[in-house]
Amino acid sequence: MTKTNLSDLKEFAREKIGADEYPDDFHIYDEAKCDKCGVVPFEVNLEHQNCGSPVDFHGTIWLQCSVCGEKQEYLSILVEGGKLINTEQCKCKCDNTTFYVASCDRIEVWDGQPSFFDEGVVVGKCSNCGSMVRIAMTD
Ligand SMILES: [Zn+2]
Ligand SMILES: [Zn+2]
Repeated sequence: MTKTNLSDLKEFAREKIGADEYPDDFHIYDEAKCDKCGVVPFEVNLEHQNCGSPVDFHGTIWLQCSVCGEKQEYLSILVEGGKLINTEQCKCKCDNTTFYVASCDRIEVWDGQPSFFDEGVVVGKCSNCGSMVRIAMTD
């Protein structure tokens, strides 16, 4: 298996979360993997809850492996009393629906210790044309 180089996706994620503006905080970057296939493109389905806003995602993000078809819950932020309002499949402007997916979370540092979650971003890179998209922001 060739190792996919996603350093540009990492740069994109750090830029979207403004990592350079918080040099004292801790940033955790992580690429989505399939248990069987490793880092591969995924179909991305978003289930939006009604409390979501464009800057603050509420709901569930599902990833489906483009190689073996296995589906996994990638991220779920559910609010009590929230209702599913719509589902959305990520699609690139080139019509492709599979993306390499990664997240970057900012952890605030207090007294030299990474202490609590501040905000995060989920990003994707089209497996066809390489375009990068912001999938969701979490707070
Ligand atoms: Zn797989
Ligand atoms: Zn594309």
